[in-house]
Amino acid sequence: MRYYSTNNRASSVSLHEAVVKGLASDRGLFMPEKIKTLPKEFFDNIDKMSFHEIACTVADAFFGEDVEEEALKDIVCDTLSFDCPVMKVTDSIYSLELFHGPTLAFKDVGARFMARLLGYFIESERKETVNVLVATSGDTGSAVANGFLGVEGIHVYVLYPKGKVSRIQESQFTTLGQNITAVEIDGVFDDCQALVKNAFMDEELNRHMKLTSANSINVARFLPQAFYYFNAYARMKERNAADNMVVCVPSGNFGNITAALFGQEMGLPIKRFIAANNANDIFYKYLQTGNYEPKPSVQTIANAMDVGDPSNFARIMDLYSNDYDTIKGRINGASFSDDEIKETMKQCFDDNKYILDPHGACGYLALKNELKAGETGVFCETAHPAKFKETVEEAINSHVEIPERLAEFMKGTKQSVGLYKEFKSFKAFLMSR
Ligand SMILES: *Cc1c(COP(=O)(O)O)cnc(C)c1O
Repeated sequence: MRYYSTNNRASSVSLHEAVVKGLASDRGLFMPEKIKTLPKEFFDNIDKMSFHEIACTVADAFFGEDVEEEALKDIVCDTLSFDCPVMKVTDSIYSLELFHGPTLAFKDVGARFMARLLGYFIESERKETVNVLVATSGDTGSAVANGFLGVEGIHVYVLYPKGKVSRIQESQFTTLGQNITAVEIDGVFDDCQALVKNAFMDEELNRHMKLTSANSINVARFLPQAFYYFNAYARMKERNAADNMVVCVPSGNFGNITAALFGQEMGLPIKRFIAANNANDIFYKYLQTGNYEPKPSVQTIANAMDVGDPSNFARIMDLYSNDYDTIKGRINGASFSDDEIKETMKQCFDDNKYILDPHGACGYLALKNELKAGETGVFCETAHPAKFKETVEEAINSHVEIPERLAEFMKGTKQSVGLYKEFKSFKAFLMSR
């Protein structure tokens, strides 16, 4: 399969190159030239298949041409060492729990898959270290750092905004050591993202070291996220609840929802999508006006969605040939204030005894507001509520248990490098490595 850039359909690269480069040389995002439709029999029998079987079928459609069959199976099964169950919350609303991985957030799936696929590709040509640069507003850093921890031939630099990441999140990528370096930037998330993008464009730096990205812009991270949407459909079909299924994704950089949109292109019967935003409502405004106007991100209690210029917007535009009406027809929007998010966590806990995290709360509330008669909603619960312990406990006025694997991280010692947000200082730091 060839992968073209969203900025230029005419030039394309191999999967190997797309994974190693992350971003196209013209700053576009890579897109697969073909999205294969899966056969009707697959969907007819999907409820009898396991998560691993479903994921292997989907992985084969994406990567089967470029990765040996057995190796791909191993990568998929290794990645999905945990389940992504669908839990009933109300009669018509279900939670797709994506927080059962090592760092308790959905990004574990994409990060673990990418680490293994990159490892597979560079094994054959292991001459120099590949350096993974990743900007994080919270959960990306921990998922990527843990996904790559100890992988030979790869060094990871995690850039995060000083003081804007929760202590629990921070502990998950600043305490690891080994091949993981945490870089604390005196700025906001968008500054971190800009530093990463600039690093890829800097010729001198790229001569000095081999760089790649692990943000959701990397095809090896965002495509595997489709696995659990297929599985969610299967588990809903098992319950006879898969007709008129509406999928709601709490969105920041829009990688997670874009994977679901790909699923629909492959034939997955999802009726419509809702992209739930916090106060960072760029996409929501786009749906209302047709104008895409990026702006600086504002800090919210759902901080992993504090994104002012969602990078995967380019992929959504490309997928639907820049057609506003098509996009509006497929995806609805929603945007919520911190107060609404807190109130929702409380209500959902009081009514259903289900504890939402602030991101999942946006998904749940959007469904509660927008679901029509006869529809069943599935929202992504993108992180474990304990990752936002103080916020959640205050909102629901009850105790949130910290899972053992999360408590382990918090015992470690913080190690990080502090830098200013100017590219000059970041570049100098990398040049000295
Ligand atoms: C990253 C993240 C999101 C946003 O996902 P995107 O793919 O960037 O849209 C939502 N919730 C949590 C908990 C996250 O970590």
